[in-house]
Amino acid sequence: MLRTKEQYREGLFKMKPNIYIGGEKVGRDDHRLIPGINVMDTTFEIALDPRWKGVATATSSITGEEINRWAHLPQNPYDLLQKQKLIRLSARRVGGCIHRCMGHDAISALAICTKEIDEAKGTDYHQRFINYMRGYHQKDINGCCAQTDSKGDRLKRPSEQPNPDAYVHVVEKRKDGIVVSGVKMSITQVAYADEMFVLPTRALMEDDSAFAVAFAVPADCEGVHLITRPVWHREKDEPDASPFCRYGVSDSVVVFDNVFVPNERVFMCGEWDFGRRIALLFADSHRHSYSGCKPGVSDILCGTTALAAEANNIQKVGHVREKLSEFAGAAELAFAAGVAAAVYGEKTSSGVFFPNKIFANVGRRMTGELIYHEYNILTEIAGGIAVTLPFEDDFHAPDTKKYLDKFIVRNPKLPPDVSLKIWKFVENIGASPMSAWYEIAGVHGGGSPIMETIALNLDYNYDRKKKLARYLAGIDPEFDDSADLALEPTFGMSLVEDPKGQQKK
Ligand SMILES: Cc1cc2nc3c(=O)[nH]c(=O)nc-3n(C[C@H](O)[C@H](O)[C@H](O)COP(=O)(O)OP(=O)(O)OC[C@H]3O[C@@H](n4cnc5c(N)ncnc54)[C@H](O)[C@@H]3O)c2cc1C
Repeated sequence: MLRTKEQYREGLFKMKPNIYIGGEKVGRDDHRLIPGINVMDTTFEIALDPRWKGVATATSSITGEEINRWAHLPQNPYDLLQKQKLIRLSARRVGGCIHRCMGHDAISALAICTKEIDEAKGTDYHQRFINYMRGYHQKDINGCCAQTDSKGDRLKRPSEQPNPDAYVHVVEKRKDGIVVSGVKMSITQVAYADEMFVLPTRALMEDDSAFAVAFAVPADCEGVHLITRPVWHREKDEPDASPFCRYGVSDSVVVFDNVFVPNERVFMCGEWDFGRRIALLFADSHRHSYSGCKPGVSDILCGTTALAAEANNIQKVGHVREKLSEFAGAAELAFAAGVAAAVYGEKTSSGVFFPNKIFANVGRRMTGELIYHEYNILTEIAGGIAVTLPFEDDFHAPDTKKYLDKFIVRNPKLPPDVSLKIWKFVENIGASPMSAWYEIAGVHGGGSPIMETIALNLDYNYDRKKKLARYLAGIDPEFDDSADLALEPTFGMSLVEDPKGQQKK
């Protein structure tokens, strides 16, 4: 089923109020949440747009019906390529983060890990999860992912923390389900999601088995409290405001205060030895999602820089052209890493197709490291106006308009109203609360940079590179590189074929 944005909002606004903003308990229709809800709307709109059929939609592997791609469990490289494309096109439409990839990455991780736990331990988590997903597909549910625990003292494991609520954990096991408590934080989208997937955030030891818990609950479930921080642009959401200003985001501290989770929604409980696996499955899938999202953010920063250069009448200057090419390098290398991750991915025992970890991590690491540099290029080309521009009302007030209309024009080919729109946009992109959000999300979203290093060091074979160097240095007589070059693209799977006859873009 594909819901309309009106159906999504109707369901959302009926949810129980469990959100706090600035000390107030608010409903989901609070005006500070609307910029994020506007982003969600587009995820339903794009899926119903015939131009994006097969990109924004997919055929459910569970019900066989057409569903929103955000709810789809990827079955082949083609699915991963289409996800990447969907994220880039969505990011360009809303001016950045589309918020829904975390839910997508969580369902991939859960599908794979529940199967692997069952294979190792004889449990029945996978079938439970598939049963749950049937309803998810039939109702076109919008899910988020709460993985990051508040974590307390970073050098202590969950069971060593003086405050056990630093990590979400099981406090009671009942016949019909479990009771959980603890605090997750920095959770995007939960304030306007239908459902929340909860996963462990790190590798666990036997003592931590109470913390090895994964489940799904409605975002307004009894005992769940959301303490929410909305972010939006400087400009108001007025009819004449730019489309970009309609969008924003909210992140929440999620408190689980003795929350009952029925068995059919519990997908891991006590299997501490799968803590690392499920945490990395989510993180690696999320890093592949970045290969669609970050190129979209680069596209926006590149376009804004080019527009600022035009408004300054320096668009043909050599150093400007050179700086613009840096955006092209960042965006397209990240996108290419995502394509490689899809093409060299692997079919897991669950049937879910998973991106190649090395390519997903190197792409994500590069874009994380470059994010401040890209903002710096915009700042260099735009000048200081992003933080010194008078308020918009001064451009319309009779006493000041006559001065400001002259001051705002730098390129004589651009009239004052267009020049003002450009500089307000530059301010919103480069010097608003959203700019800071994108910079920090670029570094930490999907895991801090050190996590990509750890993921690479788990899988990348440095020893074989050393053996290559030993051969070239004449220390060893031979070097067998068959293992290094054994990686084959998964052409045997439907990489480019489109069995359902879905339209390709
Ligand atoms: C904008 C934004 C949106 C987000 N959305 C989501 C979301 O929807 N869902 C979700 O689950 N998470 C989300 N996150 C959380 C994100 O995954 C985390 O910020 C990230 O994993 C880093 O964790 P942290 O913020 O707790 O930083 P920390 O883990 O505290 O890291 C800070 C520094 O401490 C170091 N450090 C931490 N632990 C150790 C240790 N044991 N030993 C040595 N060094 C250590 C790190 O390497 C890093 O340099 C979001 C984050 C941001 C910024």
